[in-house]
Amino acid sequence: MNSNNRNLRNIGVIAHVDAGKTTTTERILFYTGEAHRIGDVDDGTTRMDFDPQERQRGITINSAATTVHWNGVQINLIDTPGHIDFNIEVRRSLRVLDGAVVVFDGVAGVEPQTETNWRLADAYRVPRIAFINKLDRTGADFQRVVAMMQERLGVQTLPVQLPIGVEGGFRGVVDLLAMQALVWDHDDASEGPRVLPIPADLREAAVLQRARLVELAVEQDEAALHAYLHGQDVPVELLRECIRRGVLAGAFVPVLAGAAFRNRGIEPLLDAVVDWLPKPGDLRPGEVQHGDVPVVDDPMAADPDGPFAALAFKVVTDDHGAMVFVRVYRGRLRRGDAVLNATTGKMERFARIYEVHADQRVERDELVAGDIAGIVGLKDTLTGHTLCDRQHVLQLEQISIPEAVIDVAIEPKSQADQQGLSPALQLLLREDPSLRLRQDSESGQTILSGMGELQLEVSIEKLRARFGIQVSVGRPQVAYRETITREVEVSHVHKKQSGGPGQFAAVRLRLAPLPRGEGQRFESQVVGGAIPREFIPAVEAGIRRAAQAGALAGHPCVDFVATLLDGSHHERDSSTLAFELAAAAAFREAAAQAGPVLLEPVMAVEVITPLDYLGDCIGDLHRRRGVVHGNVMRGNAAAVNAQVPLKEMFGYIGSLRALSSGRAQYTMHLDHYAVAPVAALAALAQA
Ligand code: GDP
Repeated sequence: MNSNNRNLRNIGVIAHVDAGKTTTTERILFYTGEAHRIGDVDDGTTRMDFDPQERQRGITINSAATTVHWNGVQINLIDTPGHIDFNIEVRRSLRVLDGAVVVFDGVAGVEPQTETNWRLADAYRVPRIAFINKLDRTGADFQRVVAMMQERLGVQTLPVQLPIGVEGGFRGVVDLLAMQALVWDHDDASEGPRVLPIPADLREAAVLQRARLVELAVEQDEAALHAYLHGQDVPVELLRECIRRGVLAGAFVPVLAGAAFRNRGIEPLLDAVVDWLPKPGDLRPGEVQHGDVPVVDDPMAADPDGPFAALAFKVVTDDHGAMVFVRVYRGRLRRGDAVLNATTGKMERFARIYEVHADQRVERDELVAGDIAGIVGLKDTLTGHTLCDRQHVLQLEQISIPEAVIDVAIEPKSQADQQGLSPALQLLLREDPSLRLRQDSESGQTILSGMGELQLEVSIEKLRARFGIQVSVGRPQVAYRETITREVEVSHVHKKQSGGPGQFAAVRLRLAPLPRGEGQRFESQVVGGAIPREFIPAVEAGIRRAAQAGALAGHPCVDFVATLLDGSHHERDSSTLAFELAAAAAFREAAAQAGPVLLEPVMAVEVITPLDYLGDCIGDLHRRRGVVHGNVMRGNAAAVNAQVPLKEMFGYIGSLRALSSGRAQYTMHLDHYAVAPVAALAALAQA
């Protein structure tokens, strides 16, 4: 069996928060027979959002994978979050998906997060179909949303349906391919649509729209184009095939209509997923690639009989341990096989393989190219790692992980909380590779770092909801760093003589600045056994430990090289501990003398704004110490690119909304660390 013929679709549902992604997914589960009672977001019983915290928040935070079947085709559904702070979730889903359904709110149309995610999907070349939802709402307008898609997303839209009735009177859709009406008489999901002739008042519009559809579609196929140009009818089946090809090629995006909440439009949406979104291996042949290892050529990419290769894209932990979600790109994995983790270089064993149906697991004996499934029992596999056949080592393209730029201090509330905290945090870190953890060496506080405020808030909420751990949480802070600006040399002697064995170590250290982004380096120039070799690693350890808290304000010190020049020891009283202490003290002394400065994260910010607000947006970025690199037109909006210190971006979303009547949007990621103005340090001292 070649997986090109496999009846499988790996798809995601993408939307702006509240557009109806959860409701749509929920309905899909119901119509495919996965859920016998329709969960309802509003009363917190949905199946995809099985994390209690997600139910409470009404947004899906973790992508949950679930398997369903429609017309004999298996659909693996990956739920993706809409909020910017969970961008990593969207990224890792897009990375392993073959196609996506993008849900739009029929009233709000193209919303900021839809646009951001749309562009991410562009970057990952994910074929899409659009579902305009909530057409039963007051103010909903199918054609306006289609126009917005063209305008804001610059996409060639291909409406394949027209809505019948507006707002409260929305009853069904005209199927422009079959030229018939599908009408849902009841909100009750157990009854399918009635197939009727197109209502008289929609006939003209339908004929017109169909003509446009055919004109666009036939370009995808010689025979269809030929028939069309000779005035012949193009068979519906051929049209469907043309649409499939256009979707795969990114030539256009089919647009469907519905109201998920009222169970209207879901069956045709499922048909569209099966008809038009790609099977594994249909697309993106370049997927399996890169690194020092050989590139895998295209036809191999989805070959079920080739050597095994899979990408781990998510780790979820629960009472039973960790489940690693993988996308299999090539070959097979059977229960009992051992696999190589190409990223760590270690062989790994595992206990079981599962297909996940929302909150249930179904055990499988084997995974085949194209599959998305969960593996239990892998010890050291993290998000982004490649698993493969040990005889055919390769490294799949990594998932880019955004840097942690915001800190919060957390403190356990009780002794019991104290005990559970560390293991719980380790689990959270394994699940979310964009989180970081460290101990503040001065205050002893535990500092959790992440890429955004909401992400940290949600992680801390997980500590409580999942692990029952209560912590007090400090105010979110910018994750500053420190560095030095000039070269210095210091000597330090560590000596203690208080009864018993003494302690002795002497070091001479040179500290010199390195260019931005170089990190920390250690060298030893000690010769002739002035310091015995076994103590040199202790010197390095002492320096690295001391560098965790810089001389200025206790932030990690980076971009320096420390050179151990000389030193002395004592036959009886020297020890690793003594050298570690001496080196740490020498580092602190040297760092204080070496012109320490504060480094702050500077973000690359992109603001997309209608032209009316362009001047105000740029003025506002300047007030935030932003360096604006100019702007380009995108559709009828301007995209402004700027570099702005993260500290000045706190609360940005609120002011951007205010100055643009909610129409401008932005994204940002860490660009680099730069020396912070002196005032920033003063402010820090006061905080
Ligand atoms: P998500 O944030 O994208 O997952 O959106 P949800 O599925 O949670 O839906 C947000 C809100 O919109 C909920 O209150 C839903 O009941 C409501 N909603 C979803 N689909 C529809 C629809 O087709 N019509 C109407 N009127 N409301 C809907």
